[in-house]
Amino acid sequence: MEDGAGASRPATGMTEKCGVVGISLAERDAALPTYYALYALQHRGQESAGIVTHDGFQQHQHVEMGLVGDAFDESDIDALTGSTGLGHVRYPTEGSLDKSCAQPFSVSFRGGALGLSHNGNLVNADEVRDELAATGHAFTSDGDTEVIAHDIARNLLEADLVRAVKRTMERIHGSYALTIMHDDTVMGVRDPEGNRPLCIGELDDGYVITSESAAIDTLGGDLVRDVQPGELVVLHEDGTGFDAYQLFERDRSAHCFFEYVYFARPDSVIDDELVYEVRRDLGRELWAESGVDTDVVMPVPDSGRAFASGYSDAAHEDGASVEFAEGLMKNRYVGRTFIMPTQEARERAVRLKLNPIRSTVEGKSVTIIDDSIVRGTTSNQLVELVRDAGAEEVHVRIGAPAILAPCYMGINMATRDELIAADKSTDEIREEIGADSLSYLSVDAVASAIGKRRDDLCLGCVTGEYPYDIDGETTDREVERPGVASADD
Ligand code: AMP
Repeated sequence: MEDGAGASRPATGMTEKCGVVGISLAERDAALPTYYALYALQHRGQESAGIVTHDGFQQHQHVEMGLVGDAFDESDIDALTGSTGLGHVRYPTEGSLDKSCAQPFSVSFRGGALGLSHNGNLVNADEVRDELAATGHAFTSDGDTEVIAHDIARNLLEADLVRAVKRTMERIHGSYALTIMHDDTVMGVRDPEGNRPLCIGELDDGYVITSESAAIDTLGGDLVRDVQPGELVVLHEDGTGFDAYQLFERDRSAHCFFEYVYFARPDSVIDDELVYEVRRDLGRELWAESGVDTDVVMPVPDSGRAFASGYSDAAHEDGASVEFAEGLMKNRYVGRTFIMPTQEARERAVRLKLNPIRSTVEGKSVTIIDDSIVRGTTSNQLVELVRDAGAEEVHVRIGAPAILAPCYMGINMATRDELIAADKSTDEIREEIGADSLSYLSVDAVASAIGKRRDDLCLGCVTGEYPYDIDGETTDREVERPGVASADD
């Protein structure tokens, strides 16, 4: 279920699962296209929205809490002059309903003006912050973004743009897709593991760097390509092109598989794969691994739709008769249900959000497909709702492996003790949610549907082994957290 009920506060500090954009145009003001791009990225964050522009002389900024449509009016956009700009939508987290964390972050320093939009989560932000604070940097928030901005600003006093960004990348550890604006130069950079998505688009009169290609489509542009893991892309100030610098190369990437499963828009292409097709393939894999020939298969909207359509297609190819049915109606005006503070509120939220269509389930055997089980609240409520509406059997299929460990890379999940799969077997979970059967997808099936090597995915939340060096956790590869003191070497 997209935008779903049930997920919760992150396990560690500030979690920043967001949407970013950076635009450089030939002449036109960048604010309006940035605003449209943020609209296209609204699913990546609903807590706050912001734009920073540069007019060649100075920065202009407008950042507000709330949805994009509420955060700006026409006069706000008009006041954001300049043909280069950054935008940001911030994902809501329980502990951070606070404007100090809203972005883009902007700062003026001796070397000019710097703006920064961040999607991801640093593992060593505290170390870098402490070290910067010791050298006299004052911080206004406890977020990662300000740490990155200060570090780049410091490096810019002694080095050119590319070298300054590289030095910061040598010090920070974790996941980040950034759009950065130094005076009127817009850049995009992706961490060496490529955890969060970032792509480049060409417009009629300029270029854009953004989290998802759907934002480029919205602007009437063409997707040029993904920013590569460890790559810095610098847009020309006059909107005529860009330069690319491969600053770090790794043998393995760590793309977040959950972007494909749940987070990203189905109409986005991420690292060469159309999310919709990946979700359909995940559905096909589900049928191949654990298909059950019920009367109907029903998606949990929205992400479940593509899963269920792939599932029923594969079923029909195998001669099964399971019928695709839009049996669960979603109330589209309910958002952000997962910041419900209590379990009771979360349960109510599921019922507020989803309601079965009685005629599609009454007297039938039903398979429900969702993208994930976090606490189990949604599945539990849905099984009950569908049984109450007259279903004779209710089977649950999940288009991802069981989530048994927290995400430190920027997805707002739950702590280990809240995750239903952290200490329960699939059969115990089946019993708890009251389903006749329950199956998850295997990790190999996920990798095959995404079309990437398992080695190139971040699977921390489903294996408990992470591609970054995180205190108290194990890694799935040889990684070393950088020594922060190396900065002044
Ligand atoms: P739960 O009810 O706690 O088991 O959560 C599972 C539901 O939350 C599923 O329907 C997912 O689509 C949705 N979901 C999974 N991850 C997230 C997330 N990070 N933020 C919001 N919803 C999520």
